[in-house]
Amino acid sequence: MYDVAIVGAGITGSALAFFLTRSGQRVLLLDAVGIAAGGSGAAGAFVSPKIAKEGELKALSEEAFLFALEFYASHFPHLTRFAPLLHVSTDPAQNDKIEHFREHTALKTCALSSEAQSLLSQRPALASVMLERSALVDAAQVCRAMAEGADFVVHEVKTLTCKPTHCLLDHFEAKKVVLCIGAYRPILELPYVSLRGIWGHRIDITTTTRLPYHLHQYLSVAATFEGRSAIGATHDVHYHPQYSFEPYDIEAGRLELLRKAAQSVTLEHVDVLRDYTGLRSGSNDYLPLLGPLVDAEATRLSLPGLRSGRRYDRAQYCYYPNLSLFNGVGGYGFVLGPYLAQQMARHLAEGMALPSMLDPTRFFERWVRRR
Ligand SMILES: Cc1cc2nc3c(=O)[nH]c(=O)nc-3n(C[C@H](O)[C@H](O)[C@H](O)COP(=O)(O)OP(=O)(O)OC[C@H]3O[C@@H](n4cnc5c(N)ncnc54)[C@H](O)[C@@H]3O)c2cc1C
Repeated sequence: MYDVAIVGAGITGSALAFFLTRSGQRVLLLDAVGIAAGGSGAAGAFVSPKIAKEGELKALSEEAFLFALEFYASHFPHLTRFAPLLHVSTDPAQNDKIEHFREHTALKTCALSSEAQSLLSQRPALASVMLERSALVDAAQVCRAMAEGADFVVHEVKTLTCKPTHCLLDHFEAKKVVLCIGAYRPILELPYVSLRGIWGHRIDITTTTRLPYHLHQYLSVAATFEGRSAIGATHDVHYHPQYSFEPYDIEAGRLELLRKAAQSVTLEHVDVLRDYTGLRSGSNDYLPLLGPLVDAEATRLSLPGLRSGRRYDRAQYCYYPNLSLFNGVGGYGFVLGPYLAQQMARHLAEGMALPSMLDPTRFFERWVRRR
């Protein structure tokens, strides 16, 4: 029997497989379509922090960003491209946020290069910050490389039963299961978990314009691998590949990408090489969900006081045995993924506690209060 079965082979599932197999666990990695077939295969995949004033996500993303830079550099240097990051405000009303970030961040900032200065001289009213170091990775290849130590099977999990001794995923057995299925149709009815799918489109191009840094403004523009550059990505909360009736309009998406990129930088002699599309998975409070899952129905039956608003300790809730969730990394999968995967792997293998602010139980409690 496997120690851990992971459902979903995007960045979250593949990074988790990486850390678990390295700690000697026997891992089964299942994906309905293939490794990096979901949102992860579409990603740019920029490794950059959240540029914000304050907040839990900002703090988490900075910590995870530093971890990820080190992680990709030491394990997958050939799949990683490092460059400074130039982040430019989209509107003078946003300047305050960027200036605050620049003045207070513990990350290493640097003076604008001459190229950045000449770009920004056309937009003197906009604030900017330049980080000395950021990265992007080859999204699909990095996921594949991370998954190497696990047994990978293309299989769509339709049924999941979790028992105190082990779990059954259709005909597969494992001691523990982690759901890493992003914003795709859920396997288990979890009425309190609402993850929003945010559809994204990005393109690979060739251009004769030199891109010496990763430029983030209306979207991201950067040189990537083998003479290519990436422009990405769009954000669309209305389209979902599993629920929408109309097909996605790839031409319109491409035009939007080129139009937004042109607002930041003039790209010469552009040829579009390839389109990538996929779903990001975002939570209502923008923080990831990492940890065990409450069985809502069993908990409501065992704690009838919940109905009248009585508060209980989280340990009193009924949890699905041996089941955890790793989801809601939003637009930061390649930043948060390795950092949180390492924590989840240590939790599963050594019983290390997970950060309580990421506990999916917070959504159960909010759901109960609303009802
Ligand atoms: C266009 C675009 C650009 C992006 N750019 C960046 C970026 O620059 N930097 C960054 O950090 N992030 C970026 N992101 C976000 C990043 O891609 C996501 O955060 C990440 O993909 C989430 O990974 P995941 O593992 O949660 O989900 P996914 O990658 O979506 O993986 C979920 C997997 O689960 C599988 N699955 C679902 N249901 C089942 C089932 N029942 N049985 C078996 N398998 C199942 C799916 O096939 C899928 O492969 C971007 C996203 C998009 C769409």
